[in-house]
Amino acid sequence: MSELPYSYEAPASQALFDRAAAVTPGGVNSPVRAFRAVGGTPRFMVSGSGPYLTDSDGREYVDLVCSWGPMILGHAHPEVIAAVQEAVARGTSFGTPGEGEVALAEEMVARIEPLEQVRLVSSGTEATMSAIRLARGFTQRSKVIKFAGCYHGHVDALLASAGSGVATFALPDTPGVTGAQAGDTIVLPYNDLDAVRAAFAAHPGEIACVITEASPGNMGVVPPLPGFNQGLKDACAANGALYISDEVMTGFRTSRAGWYGVDGVRPDLMTFGKVMGGGFPAAAFGGRADVMAHLAPAGPVYQAGTLSGNPVATAAGLAQLRLLDDAAYEKVNAVSARIQSLVTEALTKEGVAHTLQNASNMFSVFFTENPVRDYEDAKQQESFRFTAFFHSLLANGVYLPPSSFESWFVSTAHDERAVQRIADALPAAARAAAEATA
Ligand code: PLP
Repeated sequence: MSELPYSYEAPASQALFDRAAAVTPGGVNSPVRAFRAVGGTPRFMVSGSGPYLTDSDGREYVDLVCSWGPMILGHAHPEVIAAVQEAVARGTSFGTPGEGEVALAEEMVARIEPLEQVRLVSSGTEATMSAIRLARGFTQRSKVIKFAGCYHGHVDALLASAGSGVATFALPDTPGVTGAQAGDTIVLPYNDLDAVRAAFAAHPGEIACVITEASPGNMGVVPPLPGFNQGLKDACAANGALYISDEVMTGFRTSRAGWYGVDGVRPDLMTFGKVMGGGFPAAAFGGRADVMAHLAPAGPVYQAGTLSGNPVATAAGLAQLRLLDDAAYEKVNAVSARIQSLVTEALTKEGVAHTLQNASNMFSVFFTENPVRDYEDAKQQESFRFTAFFHSLLANGVYLPPSSFESWFVSTAHDERAVQRIADALPAAARAAAEATA
């Protein structure tokens, strides 16, 4: 193993974190960035280039977060940057329709067969919130089924995640979400079709939709068991409910056509974000044209946005999608597979019980020897081992998601040099995981 290139302290990041804490709750604008799950100083990044991030102490890391998914071409891809610069020079927001948003919608529709119509929004949260409103408006029903461990953004009704037993009405997970907002949400264990069928039987004519991550990445990577998504689709069809596939994370990442391109199960509605924005706030929901026709101004279900279809964001997203051809996916899948095997090899060598799970090029490591099929399984892992593993990698210039319940992301820019940096850092991290105590 090469010697450790970086010390662990991060004085410039710590100083910024202290400043941030004075003006921003917890010092961050999205909770997971605060490193609460692993402890230590969150790194304040100043720049990104290809597979690398540089923090405010001037240290470089191989980035295995990729902005939580969007940066599938790596940071500051020249063609994406050029498209953005060209768009910016023409003005940043008009509040009118523009060609960029049409072109982005056309590109998405061309890639995903069930996506007949699409509405652009600015975040994945907005996409899922709007899709649920539309499903309720279309079906004239109130209840929504979601799965424990699936994250769909911070939509009030979808923050209800933990119900005990099958088909329980969920209590809100967070103060500020009222019982009424969460009361129409039914939370079920992931990968459990019997629970879904039982919920439909218990609430005939009341369930508007089932929303699921197309392949979950927010409890770590827990792919659907064979037939699970098709079973959801069938249960929805049999009961007059809509099947909403949340592809905010998987969309345009797990294949050209996202997870739909992998499992071919046809959703009624889909949601997107992350990759389609090229690192800018662009997201979308869409699907069956007859359902989308219920959306204002074509139909009665209201939905809107001052910055929806923003010309800079759509230019970035379109440039990124156009670069994502079959060769790009082959590349990102291959480098992901390579890193996955390096991780397994290092942990196995140190005798660390672990299960590495992947969904195409998304993957994560659970520190348990048992397969993880749902959120309860995911919670059985020895997260203290992840903490040691994470900090050792961080100290050696590899930036992992700061939680064991997150997917790792790679890009087409992760080249031999970046992979070698990871390979060099892994033995010490695996040893740290082996030696960690609860
Ligand atoms: N849906 C899924 C599957 C996600 O992973 C996320 C974010 O991580 C969201 C929705 C929410 O997206 P955003 O953070 O853009 O609001």
